[in-house]
Amino acid sequence: MTTTVRRLEGKVALVTGSARGIGRATAVRLAREGASVVVNYKGNEAAAKEAARLVGESGAKATTVQADVSIPEDADRLVKQALEFGGGRLDILVNNAGITRDNLLIRMSLEEWDAVLNLNLRGAFLVTKAAMRPMMKQRGGRVVNIASIAGVMGNAGQANYAAAKAGLIAFTKTVAREMASRNITANAVAPGLIPTELTAPLPQAVKDAMLAQTPLGRFGTVEDVANVVAFLASDDAAYVTGQVIVVDGGMVTA
Ligand code: NAD
Repeated sequence: MTTTVRRLEGKVALVTGSARGIGRATAVRLAREGASVVVNYKGNEAAAKEAARLVGESGAKATTVQADVSIPEDADRLVKQALEFGGGRLDILVNNAGITRDNLLIRMSLEEWDAVLNLNLRGAFLVTKAAMRPMMKQRGGRVVNIASIAGVMGNAGQANYAAAKAGLIAFTKTVAREMASRNITANAVAPGLIPTELTAPLPQAVKDAMLAQTPLGRFGTVEDVANVVAFLASDDAAYVTGQVIVVDGGMVTA
């Protein structure tokens, strides 16, 4: 059981793709720390409403906004609606929405490549770009991008996903450099294997092999990731920018 401190009192947070999985756990965690939270979803309104209900359980304000963050107009509207919800403020942006379309390189279709790059990299660019002006105006903000260890070490069957996540890491470091003078930090979290609907279809043999390479001897939980996002979103991480925090039970460094 982790102790929840209230480091985000009065802050407004937007978490993309937060109707389930790591995004939902992050939305709930930020809310427990005092933030008002915008739950973004692409299609499943019922799941988004349930996530918002969970967010609200901690007494935090929550709203849901439908938007496909890979579409420029949707990304702009999402940030606009987040600002309206936040009374003109947007303090924390978590780019979490992501998909996989796994295939070996020689079998990977252009559609599989484009779908993953369009959401996992282009989507983060679109929402971050839209969020920068308001954060610059309020002279402060936090961007946390959910990358992956695949973006650090590569992964067979995930040329598209690994390239997008590596791109997201380089994007994060660049945002950190461009925005530091405005007191906006940008960091990435790179999870290992976290059981969610995204990873459920992976063959058991792949999961077993990953577990065997994990020094801490267990898979991560969505809360393990959310805890680190909350730290990076808080003033405790005020002097941390351009970093990638790997949350993988020690696998990458093993
Ligand atoms: P998930 O599939 O449960 O969550 C992804 C969310 O993104 C879903 O709610 C989905 O509806 C949403 N989404 C998909 N397309 C969207 C779009 N166009 N616009 C807006 N939202 C959209 O998976 P998860 O495991 O919770 O993954 C969350 C993030 O963590 C992803 O970026 C993923 O790449 C990353 N990640 C996950 C793991 C893992 O092992 N689960 C490991 C490393 C990184």
